Amino acid sequence: MKERIYVDNAATTPLDPLVLEAMMPYLTTHFGNPSSIYSYGRECRLAVENARKQVAKILNANPAEIFFTSGGTESSNMAITSAVRDLGCKHIISSTIEHHATLHTVEYLNNNKEAALSYVKLLPNGHIDLANLGELLKESNEKCLVTLMHANNEIGNLLDIYTVGELCKKYNAIFHCDTVQTVGHYPFNLKETPVHFINGSAHKFHGPKGVGILYINENVKVKPYVHGGSQERNMRAGTENVYGIVGFAKALEIANSNYVADSTYIKSLKLYMKEQLQKNISGVYFNGDVSGSSLYAVLSVSFPKTTKSEMILFNLDINNICASGGSACSSGSDQDSHVIRAINSNQNQITVRFSFSKFNNHKEIDIVISKLKDMI
Ligand code: PLP
Repeated sequence: MKERIYVDNAATTPLDPLVLEAMMPYLTTHFGNPSSIYSYGRECRLAVENARKQVAKILNANPAEIFFTSGGTESSNMAITSAVRDLGCKHIISSTIEHHATLHTVEYLNNNKEAALSYVKLLPNGHIDLANLGELLKESNEKCLVTLMHANNEIGNLLDIYTVGELCKKYNAIFHCDTVQTVGHYPFNLKETPVHFINGSAHKFHGPKGVGILYINENVKVKPYVHGGSQERNMRAGTENVYGIVGFAKALEIANSNYVADSTYIKSLKLYMKEQLQKNISGVYFNGDVSGSSLYAVLSVSFPKTTKSEMILFNLDINNICASGGSACSSGSDQDSHVIRAINSNQNQITVRFSFSKFNNHKEIDIVISKLKDMI
């Protein structure tokens, strides 16, 4: 079988073998229920609590502020719903280019008449119009929840989390930042970051799927979200995903210790891909603020639309190259991408997102470019 080239790391990443090694005992011998009082249970409880402490230390938060969940989607649902139902936010301010985990939650709450909903304006390069955000906050008669993502998973644009947090503080708003694309990619110092909720998902940084975190700032008091047993300090019931939680902490530890080297390397891959595309394919266009405030792993490229290029995702797949048309959930074509639609009105383009990890190399990019030349 021909070797695959995987350049869709914003969708998910391969598991780091060191993470698997750390998880292995909890998939085999250490199978106890963390709530059991005998030794099998206690060793698993210890593993969960050590993981929580480790995650909190890396993000500079208190362990009591870290809740383990099933991933980014659940964490966003929990943060947004809790802000509306428990913290009195009757007006949600979000953007049209959020992940569906956010968009569908805010739409649900709005349709259910639990909160008003406003979308902040976007600048031509896809960044949030912060002046407009300030106006929306100022004009609102209700307590607001601002939910905006840190890095956009399709175009890579980075939000200035500090400025948004300060604006929220000024207007007494609750701030949820979807940090699924940045936890495990950038250092965090949550004690110095004006945010109430952030989330993370292990599979975006070489950890296992189906495990994430929700950070809830200690000054925010929300009610239990999943009802049942007393796990996660009564907030989210259900027997813990022990091996997943251990894997989350290990993946974060690795990402954090290798941040400088890995981010520099991955950025060099993105820049190389961009240069090679410009050199070899005419009419390429890059979506978002690609040379400015942008996630170092994501490159969103629009190619001129031709009968040939319309088949690009299909042809990439045939050539064993894994890339996506937008987010992972819109794998068929970029027509489905609400993000590209919101920021790029050119109907004569076909968009592909390439996203890189420490496991990619320059040779793979050369192969992708040589194949792409025949697909446009
Ligand atoms: N938010 C963003 C920005 C994402 O990229 C994703 C994953 O695609 C999610 C939320 C959902 O995370 P998960 O797959 O862990 O549910």
